[in-house]
Amino acid sequence: MDSAVQVRIHPAVDGGVKPAGAGFSGGTLVCECTDRPVKVKIEGQVAHNHACGCTKCWKPKGADFSVVAVVPHDKVTVLENGDKLAVVDPSALIQRHACKQCGVHMYGPVERDHAFKGLDFIHPERFQESGWAPPGFAAFVSSIIESGVNPERMDGIRARLKELGLEPYDCLSPGLMDYVATWVAKKSGALPA
Ligand SMILES: [Zn+2]
Ligand SMILES: [Zn+2]
Repeated sequence: MDSAVQVRIHPAVDGGVKPAGAGFSGGTLVCECTDRPVKVKIEGQVAHNHACGCTKCWKPKGADFSVVAVVPHDKVTVLENGDKLAVVDPSALIQRHACKQCGVHMYGPVERDHAFKGLDFIHPERFQESGWAPPGFAAFVSSIIESGVNPERMDGIRARLKELGLEPYDCLSPGLMDYVATWVAKKSGALPA
C-alpha cells in the first residue's frame, strides 16, 4: 500500500476518483494563463472519461497520464481569447486546439471520417466547476514508457490504476475498441450498415 500511494497517476485521481455530481450540466474550461486565459464553454456532461498514457494528450506537470473525455462538437463554444489557440498537429486525427502561451489543450475535434467524428476531446480537469463524470479506465498505459517512464515501474503503476478502479489497457477499453472496429466493418461492408 505504501509503495502504491507514491505512484502518481494524475492530480485529479491521486487522492481517489471523485464521483460525478448529479446536477452537473457542463461548465467552462479555462487554460493555465493568468493573463487573458482561453475559456471554452461545454454544455452537458462528458462521456468516456479516462486516464490516458499516450504521448499526444496534454498532461499537467509531473503527471504520467492525462485525463481526457469526449463531448459532442456542437456542445463546445470558445468564449474568450480564442485568438490564443492553435492546432498542435494538423495531420493528427484529433485536431488538438492548444493555448499557444501555456500549452493546455482546450478541445480537440475529430473531423475526419472516423468512428469518433463529431466528438471533441477535452480535459475535464480544466473545468472551473466540479461534478464532471470521473475517469472509468486507463488507456494506452504502456505508452508512458515512450515519454520516458522506466519500464520497471509499470507493475506498480498498473497496480495503482487497478486500486483506483481505473482498469489499465494498452489501447482503448474493449468497449471502445469494439465500437471503432464495428464502425470500420460497417464501412467496408463486412457487417451490414
Ligand atoms: Zn493559456
Ligand atoms: Zn492520450
